Amino acid sequence: MALKKETGIVVQSRNIADADSMITLLGKTGPKQKFLIRGLRKSRRRPIAAAETGSIISIDYYSHSQREILNVKEVSLLERFEKIKSSYGGFLLVSYMAEFADRILPEGETHEKMFLLFEQAMNSLEKEGYFPLLLPVFKLRILHYSGVLPKEFYCSSCGENILDKKTAYFNPQNFEIHCGDCHAIPKNNIEIIRFLVKVSRTSFQDLKEANVPDSIIQDTDFFLNGCIRNYLNISLKTSDMFYKSLGKNYELPV
Ligand SMILES: [Zn+2]
Repeated sequence: MALKKETGIVVQSRNIADADSMITLLGKTGPKQKFLIRGLRKSRRRPIAAAETGSIISIDYYSHSQREILNVKEVSLLERFEKIKSSYGGFLLVSYMAEFADRILPEGETHEKMFLLFEQAMNSLEKEGYFPLLLPVFKLRILHYSGVLPKEFYCSSCGENILDKKTAYFNPQNFEIHCGDCHAIPKNNIEIIRFLVKVSRTSFQDLKEANVPDSIIQDTDFFLNGCIRNYLNISLKTSDMFYKSLGKNYELPV
């Protein structure tokens, strides 16, 4: 059994037996994978926060091609993101982001870009605090990287670029898009489609400075939640509690 090293962000964590923790790690270089850290919760030497969702840790583990859950020999906590996790809203937000990433990204595959994205999002939350824009941007980038949603949108009937149209409908049930020129559409959500394209072409910093109206941010976030629910065929466990905690203008409770 070879000893290997990995760094990653914890996207799921479960207490097992008396003192063990089972975590799912979104690796920086290796695949997303489950690991067992024995005795963590009773250890004086090992950092218990290493098993918290949203923590960035480094581990030495025993590699085994036939095992689904690998045993960790040593663990160290690189970044806990204590500030954001210490508020109730921040804790719910991190749990929600972690569950979303965990559900969307297949186990056993590497997701280097997602690790970087998640790390960036956590760093920005820790340093600058929460921003409603973070929600749709984080989700959309992950949906792009994993190929669930495209970056450009064309009408399913006439094939023309949706950005050239005044009205269009993106159906979150089947992900089909029709323009209003060639189809009778049940509803016009071209503003959301335009914003989705803008997010895919613009850095987070530039988007922050673009002063996107709150209503567009919320409508797009709500729309993406519909897409995610339909794609996964389930509701995220943390979603209800997180959204109930948000204020009217998507502000995070303290
Ligand atoms: Zn069309």
